[in-house]
Amino acid sequence: MSYTFNLDGVHRLGMRASQISVGSKKTEFPQREETCTDRGYLQRLPSDIQIRSAPSDLYLVKRKYTEEALKRLIQSSSFFQKEKDRIAGLLSNRRDAITSFNASIARATTITEAMNQRLVGLQKGFDVLRIFDSWDLTPNQLRERIRSSKKYAAEYGIDDDASVIKVSINPIQGPNLLREKLEAIYSETDGASVKYASPLRAPRQFGVIKAFGEIEKWNDMYDVPKTWRGNGRTSMMHMMSYFGFDSLSLLTGKRWTKRGARPQIIVPRRFDDTSLGYLKMPQEHTSRYGNDLLCSCDVDYGYDVSSQTDNYSTDELSGMFRVHEAFASNIEFALDRPLILQQGKELIDRYRAKEFSRQAFKDLLGVDFSNKQLM
Ligand SMILES: [Zn+2]
Repeated sequence: MSYTFNLDGVHRLGMRASQISVGSKKTEFPQREETCTDRGYLQRLPSDIQIRSAPSDLYLVKRKYTEEALKRLIQSSSFFQKEKDRIAGLLSNRRDAITSFNASIARATTITEAMNQRLVGLQKGFDVLRIFDSWDLTPNQLRERIRSSKKYAAEYGIDDDASVIKVSINPIQGPNLLREKLEAIYSETDGASVKYASPLRAPRQFGVIKAFGEIEKWNDMYDVPKTWRGNGRTSMMHMMSYFGFDSLSLLTGKRWTKRGARPQIIVPRRFDDTSLGYLKMPQEHTSRYGNDLLCSCDVDYGYDVSSQTDNYSTDELSGMFRVHEAFASNIEFALDRPLILQQGKELIDRYRAKEFSRQAFKDLLGVDFSNKQLM
């Protein structure tokens, strides 16, 4: 299969507009990736809601492994086979999309070469082959890992499927090391996939990432939390595109928690593209906007706030809000794209006008829209 990446423009604020083609599949960035968790919500929607399109052209199958599970992948061929079957089942939901696989692995885990070989072996049938950096690898060892992974992919017969090769990297390492590893990734593969970390926690590392903003490679960010911790409101995904990520996917599943820790209580909130924040439904939405849902995505089409909240249970509503968010996020990114390409102040005006992005830009990203130099 063939693969092309085109960087169409980088706005001085940092957002990128780009496009890719993988075989006969094509799409434009920035874009939110649909995860298998998003798909699960979509499949469980109340049966009277008609979904006519997909929220994204990208589809990410994600699995979570403990160190024990990674060892079992090596030791037990039946466990490995079962895991491959499970992944193939999740992949079959969206073969029309540009597909990739990701594994969530506890941060301190050393990913050995044997584990890496198995992780490659799980990726049969995907458009993107993902290689995993390990915290203890040097830049040269990472280059070796990329080369050995390509060899395993050929042995497993995966190189015929996967025409894109990306490397997952955790930004929480020394900034110089991160820069050298990113240089290795960009020279050996089609792009980097950066795990989310707070820019407040790793400001120098994010400076390194931002410095690669003009690179002609596919930049991805994964495990992005829904909201910014600073206010519990701002959509973090839309803030992270500031660092030049073309595609972004949401943190899914439960966080790694200490044994016996109580699960967090989730209050259903709905993504509001007007403010780039999350609002409690129905109270906060109706006090701002009245009864109009202000969205014509497949979930909301034909409803207003009261007919939606009266017709469905809280459980059903929280699934509906999740799918709405997957659609609405990409409607927003599609509106960003022409403004990125215009290179003017329209994109700055757009983010400045959104209540919840304004504060996050200042406190999280250090960009003050009241500064005249920005204009
Ligand atoms: Zn909607």
